[in-house]
Amino acid sequence: MSSPPSPHPNDSSHTGRLVQAALSISVLLATLFTAFSPRLFSGDFGETILALMTPQVVSDPSAPVARQAVRIGIVSGHWGNGEDVGAVCGNGVTEVDVNYNIAVLVRQELEKLGYTVDLLQEFDPRLTGYRAAALVSIHNDTCADLGPEATGYKVAAAVGSRDPNLSARLVACLSTYYGRDTGLPFHPSSITTDMTGYHAFDEMDPATTSAIIETGFLFLDYPTLTEHTDLVAKGIVDGIVCFVNNENIASTPVP
Ligand SMILES: [Zn+2]
Repeated sequence: MSSPPSPHPNDSSHTGRLVQAALSISVLLATLFTAFSPRLFSGDFGETILALMTPQVVSDPSAPVARQAVRIGIVSGHWGNGEDVGAVCGNGVTEVDVNYNIAVLVRQELEKLGYTVDLLQEFDPRLTGYRAAALVSIHNDTCADLGPEATGYKVAAAVGSRDPNLSARLVACLSTYYGRDTGLPFHPSSITTDMTGYHAFDEMDPATTSAIIETGFLFLDYPTLTEHTDLVAKGIVDGIVCFVNNENIASTPVP
């Protein structure tokens, strides 16, 4: 519907064509806006668009509204895995119980901050294709007396994780804050293939950044792990928050 080109356009025909073009554009835009509906999109994308287009009323500006959308997975090591209780101490205390006490506190603190938290069993069915901003599995090392060197924590990411930079940042955040909050030393030499090849790493969605932390040795670090569980949990929480907030952190060289 374009007017025939005029070999000698004068001012008035020029204006006429401009008006016509402007009208066509407005009609086109009006049609687009009428046709556009977030509901045309299915699933997460539609919801995201809808959320972006919906004015948010926030009564308390400091309320962690955005954090509710951030999901964190916490695996309580050995939990729900039948006879497997992990390491066992002479007094009958088991690793599975120590892990669980820590994991429950971690969930509680993260929820206080407004995050959505899944507390997961060692072989939780939800781990298959699990999607979250981060997943951290909590374990502890042996209760055997291995001498004065057997103290401290270690953190590991999956070997060959899809995004090594993100994994390295999660490991760096956890290592830095856990050490700072608990005062325990980093004990990299006891990182095993059980940690780097941890089963859950293969089960979850490859987009989920994950790490495993052994928060201490149950023999020498027993007082910290069982009497200062709040500090142990704080170290993990601070590490996760550091990762989720994209804090600038120096990466820890992991042998
Ligand atoms: Zn374990």
